[in-house]
Amino acid sequence: MKYKYMLDCETTAIDLVNMTLFFLVCLLDQQSWQTQIQGGSRQSPIDIRSSESVHDPQLTPLSISYDPSDCLQIWNNGYSFLVEFDDSKDNSVVSGGPLENHYKLKQFHFHWGAENNRGSEHTINSLVYPAELHLVHWNAEKFRTFDEAIFSENGLAVIGVFLKLGRKHDGLQKLVNALPAVKYKDSTVEFSNFNPSCMIPSCLDYWTYPGSLTTPPQTESVTWVIMKKPIEFGDDQLSAFRSLLFTPFGEKLENMVDNFRQQQPLMNRVVRATILQ
Ligand SMILES: [Zn+2]
Repeated sequence: MKYKYMLDCETTAIDLVNMTLFFLVCLLDQQSWQTQIQGGSRQSPIDIRSSESVHDPQLTPLSISYDPSDCLQIWNNGYSFLVEFDDSKDNSVVSGGPLENHYKLKQFHFHWGAENNRGSEHTINSLVYPAELHLVHWNAEKFRTFDEAIFSENGLAVIGVFLKLGRKHDGLQKLVNALPAVKYKDSTVEFSNFNPSCMIPSCLDYWTYPGSLTTPPQTESVTWVIMKKPIEFGDDQLSAFRSLLFTPFGEKLENMVDNFRQQQPLMNRVVRATILQ
């Protein structure tokens, strides 16, 4: 079960070779793998305690600009489904807020539970949501490639958005409709003209803290921006997530659920907030 999670959902298909090498190293040296995931001082995800977060009036609103034509494909990587973007241009970027540079969108993906009482990786005062969206960006001013940024300080910026059950999300439905084509692990399907801005809540208040990838290599290179307000999506849409499979075609069917990492200690970090409470 543990090694299923080695297939990283923060990376893309072109990073698969690197991840496979990492996978092999970990298989050969389980001891070092255990050390790696437990040895950090700024691991993610965490429980955000709103009363212990610090209001920082210097935090400006995030500036988010996505170009729907950069959207390329969906990939079932055996842990989540990644919606991957062309990051060779400067069209889909995020800046401002806690970020000193502009960061290019690489991919987005979700984490979700088998039941509605679990699924999100971050929690707010221990409140769990049934799903959480991660939009993964890399620092295109300091680094030449995503692979370089992933192992570097200030390399990545991930926007987290909670999903709660409610009204069907119209923007998300185009993505949901495409999911049957990536039911099995390792499958991909072309997916174009999608604007992830439709999944950003209208209220742009957020928490921010320094953390890590929640999937291997779990490098501590992430500036997390967790949006305070959730978006709503429908029961049927969550069911479509759960109908995906961890397993490749021809193997025993195992539904893709509970693909979240356990929470990590805050240690000496401070969570900053755009507004009080
Ligand atoms: Zn994630």
